[in-house]
Amino acid sequence: MSGATTDRVQFIGDKTKYKEKGGAWVIDLPRFGEVGTHHHTYGMLTPYFKGLTQGKLLATKCVNDNCPISKGKGELWLPPRADCPDCHKPMIWEEIKNPVGEIFTYTFVERGGSGLEIQAPYYQIDVLMKGVCTIVKGYLVNRNRPIKIGDKVKAGFRTGNEASNTCLDLYWEL
Ligand SMILES: [Zn+2]
Repeated sequence: MSGATTDRVQFIGDKTKYKEKGGAWVIDLPRFGEVGTHHHTYGMLTPYFKGLTQGKLLATKCVNDNCPISKGKGELWLPPRADCPDCHKPMIWEEIKNPVGEIFTYTFVERGGSGLEIQAPYYQIDVLMKGVCTIVKGYLVNRNRPIKIGDKVKAGFRTGNEASNTCLDLYWEL
């Protein structure tokens, strides 16, 4: 694969096209020809995907005082959930202004499966972030050096013309 020796993992897929319907992005680009067409909507999570293309990391949190877990002071969920898993009330959006974290665990992926739209090899990483109650899965854009659990990472984004309009618009770098 061309560029496989560069030290930054490249996006190699086709940009995903979408239509906006009622404020939601509806993905309409078949990935594997007609047979493999997978139409779906980002629905109420559209702000998350849109935010990535603008260089913003948006999460959700529960502010329902009657929630048995958050009691109105929920931590952030990332990837976001439209509704709170604990009380089923709508969550509110909040931008993570300084999106940094540390590597919670990782895998070095030498060969990706069919349809993978980033270059292998790459590090698949789980990121622990302060104030976020979920472990965020993603990939590290750097690949030519050893990493370890606890290494600091920051979020990076594919924006504007570089955006894929998928979850791959969020990456992590050392
Ligand atoms: Zn709740």
